[in-house]
Amino acid sequence: MSDNYDVIVLGAGPAGYVAAIRCAQLGLKTACVEKWINKQGQPALGGTCLNVGCIPSKALLESSHIYENTAHGLSAHGISVNDVKADIPAMIAGKDKTVQELTGGIEHLFKANGVDWIKGSGTLLPERQIQVTGSESEKTIYKAENIVLATGSNSIEIGSVPLQGEVIVDSSGALDWESVPKKLCVIGAGVIGLELGSVWRRLGAEVVILEAQDVFLPVVDQQIAKDALRQFNRQGLDIKLGARVLASEVTADGVTLTYTDQAGEQQLQVDRVIVAVGRRPNIDQLTSPETDLLIDERGLVHVNAVCETNLPGVWAIGDLVRGPMLAHKGSEEGVAVAERIAGKQCHLNYYAIPSVIYTLPEVSWVGKTEEQLKEEGIEYKSGVFPFAASGRAKAMRDTAGMVKILADKNTDQVLGMHIIGPHSSELIGHGVMAIEFEGTIEDIARTVFAHPTLSEAIHEAALAADGRALHIPNRKR
Ligand code: FAD
Ligand code: NAD
Repeated sequence: MSDNYDVIVLGAGPAGYVAAIRCAQLGLKTACVEKWINKQGQPALGGTCLNVGCIPSKALLESSHIYENTAHGLSAHGISVNDVKADIPAMIAGKDKTVQELTGGIEHLFKANGVDWIKGSGTLLPERQIQVTGSESEKTIYKAENIVLATGSNSIEIGSVPLQGEVIVDSSGALDWESVPKKLCVIGAGVIGLELGSVWRRLGAEVVILEAQDVFLPVVDQQIAKDALRQFNRQGLDIKLGARVLASEVTADGVTLTYTDQAGEQQLQVDRVIVAVGRRPNIDQLTSPETDLLIDERGLVHVNAVCETNLPGVWAIGDLVRGPMLAHKGSEEGVAVAERIAGKQCHLNYYAIPSVIYTLPEVSWVGKTEEQLKEEGIEYKSGVFPFAASGRAKAMRDTAGMVKILADKNTDQVLGMHIIGPHSSELIGHGVMAIEFEGTIEDIARTVFAHPTLSEAIHEAALAADGRALHIPNRKR
């Protein structure tokens, strides 16, 4: 038996490392167990998000966008450039540098806050004990008053398309290719498929996305999703809906995929494949056999509204539990759990968690979709404003997309905001605050937005909800 702690956090992704830092800030003696070994063979903090998720994917989205825009997007601004080249190994190295700087930053934050990093793989034992297996297979047992489980998630694999070297990869593999595939198939038109499909298309690959469902982005407001599908198709992403992969064969020429869609059985020959069909919680070897942690039917650790598991003093947060698999959702759960452990009141509004797909145009949303409001029988009003009528978007030569606001017809309260268009990942914060502050359409309508900014489109969408938009004709009411 080694040291005793007030709190031991298992996993140092955005859920776990934030929980650990907040616990330490609140005066609790805190340790965080993390087993990640990075590309350079070094132990690393930051989890999926920093090492192989949010940050590296956004780094490559940014680099590939700059390349594509420089090569093909500057003529509208009267700028011509010749001979634009993408140096893919340099791009990947730049992404790796960003990752290393950020993961190293968390190590500094742990030291500054007095969080002990226990390197190794942890297993929950009864009586709030954690057994940690180190790099030499040595085992140490730690005990704490509270345990926070934050072991995150992993890519789902499918039997019909097993991963193979650099040819058939999951999202992590697709962040490390040092050359552009001529023809790429992405399996799954979800967030990862669209983001990584966009990266490699911008760099020159011909991209086909096979999606099993008939509806594109079913969780997104369908007016926005339809616009997104149109724009992605126009960019050259060949998205095939209702396409189920049956088999794959790796040959000397690449990969042959067999799939079925409405037209029957088809074959597709590509150089490489990304499997992006969702993620599953990391629960394997999370507990010893005698530890009775309740797991739900989806394989998630069962928690109540405030992230308590069925075991007293054991909490669970992030991708390991219900709710969207998003870094900011996990981090806020981490803060809330830390504050509860420290005896404070806390609150996390799951209804005001934003989602973003970082394609171009970006797709962002918060709150309810129009489909959900219909299904729930809520009387609503909606206001839409296209970026084509925004002075700033025109000046940027980036006018695709729209802002859509949904509000309760009777109380005027904002219930949802959906934005497809330039910088929507930043703009959606207005919607998050409107919902968090229980704001109304009138509140937004009375707010002054700077001119010329993209945020004026939010103002106009609110005005449109009441039939008084100034820069588009209003619908007859
Ligand atoms: P993780 O980040 O998965 O961290 C869990 C940690 O626990 C890992 O470091 C793991 O090594 C460690 N661990 C597991 N088991 C043990 C054990 N037994 N002992 C010790 N340590 C253990 N989300 C967004 O919000 N925005 C984005 O832009 C975004 N982009 C993404 C892009 C990609 C390609 C991917 C794959 C994901 C993306 N996500 C994004 C999702 C986001 O990464 C996750 O929601 C987030 O990382 C979950 O945080 P977490 O702390 O719960 O788990
Ligand atoms: P996802 O659930 O978003 O999409 C997976 C897609 O694959 C779905 O559309 C599904 O219908 C399809 N699919 C499943 N099995 C299939 C099959 N056999 N053949 C063809 N299609 C199939 O999952 P993801 O894109 O893998 O992302 C995983 C998680 O990571 C998501 O929950 C997401 O929230 C998170 N993430 C977030 C961001 C972001 O916030 N920008 C970025 C990447 C990942």
